[in-house]
Amino acid sequence: MKHKKLMTPGPSPVPSFLREVLAKEIIHHRTDEFRNILADAHQGLQSLLCTKNPVVILSASGTGAMEAAVSNLFSKGDKIIAISGGKFGQRWAEIANSFSLDVIEMKVEWGAAADCKKLEEIFNKNKGVKAVLTTLCETSTATVHDIENITKIAKKANAITVVDAISGLGQDKLLTDQWGVDIVVGGSQKGLMLPPGLSFVSVSDKAKSLMKESDLPKYYFDLKKALNKHKSNDTPYTPAVTIVAALAVALDALNKEGIEKRWEKFEKLAKATRAAAKALGLSILSSRPSASTTAIKLPDNIKSSQIVKILREKYGLAIAGGQAQLKDKIVRIAHMGWINAQDLISCFSLFEVALKEVGHQFKSGSSLVRLEEVIYG
Ligand SMILES: *Cc1c(COP(=O)(O)O)cnc(C)c1O
Repeated sequence: MKHKKLMTPGPSPVPSFLREVLAKEIIHHRTDEFRNILADAHQGLQSLLCTKNPVVILSASGTGAMEAAVSNLFSKGDKIIAISGGKFGQRWAEIANSFSLDVIEMKVEWGAAADCKKLEEIFNKNKGVKAVLTTLCETSTATVHDIENITKIAKKANAITVVDAISGLGQDKLLTDQWGVDIVVGGSQKGLMLPPGLSFVSVSDKAKSLMKESDLPKYYFDLKKALNKHKSNDTPYTPAVTIVAALAVALDALNKEGIEKRWEKFEKLAKATRAAAKALGLSILSSRPSASTTAIKLPDNIKSSQIVKILREKYGLAIAGGQAQLKDKIVRIAHMGWINAQDLISCFSLFEVALKEVGHQFKSGSSLVRLEEVIYG
């Protein structure tokens, strides 16, 4: 028997009160019982996203909702800007390219946030840009882009803003309506404490009007159909009934705690994580770090895959390494959803053990002291 703990930026732990809901008998989806559950989930998502826009639920992982956003909003040859400072920003560019859009990829150094002045210049140089596609928390670098300002700049150019908030939702501040974000994409397996399998898309009126003109192919992910069914708390096809039932309960719990409170809580946990890493003589990759995940740079002589392997195989603790160009250079520790201060304390205790094993020098317990000071001090 082995104890297992997930501290990865998705999937993240599913608490027992939600596993109980997931274990319940399946109910039929064309019933009032299910429509009531879906109504709760729809409302709960609006509260979590701070929006009055409808939020449709798709039975697909997060990338499904990203693809749905692209295939429903645009037409062949439409000009869009994809802010690409990591794996997930790149994904926007890849999806848009696969639908033959005219993609302007705004390359951002990995670990940095998009420079809003540069974005403005790109808008000034390129007329007729329909949208900017960006990411709340770029999970591969644990960096948060300035969505509020990006949206302002897009609005001036009469373009819409599409935000992948899959990992940031619930921890990193996002005021959909106040900032005027047209499309927000979310997923179930990060801050929402659920298994993978659901994704969400919020749709503004302006986005709806773009959808009317879109000529890209779509069938399963036709958001016009989904929005139409959404009005009567229904779905075009069989939804993932079990996860939707758990989603309604998860959202109720998150919204009862309060989204602002959660932003503050995770900001503090993120700050504590950064302080703990620094106490071990390590540095933080991101210049605009996320409240959902922290990316910690390792010294050149230590490969992060070694640390990840020791933690997983010896102690049953899953943290993430780096992706693509950051492979073996960073570890990523998630603080999202159900993850709390105690989890971080035990995570750093084992992280210290693994660092010692590979020969890194530091004062034992120093990360734990800093964690406690920041969290409880
Ligand atoms: C996890 C993640 C995704 C991908 O979601 P899947 O559920 O794996 O399809 C997309 N964007 C961001 C920012 C993520 O963290």
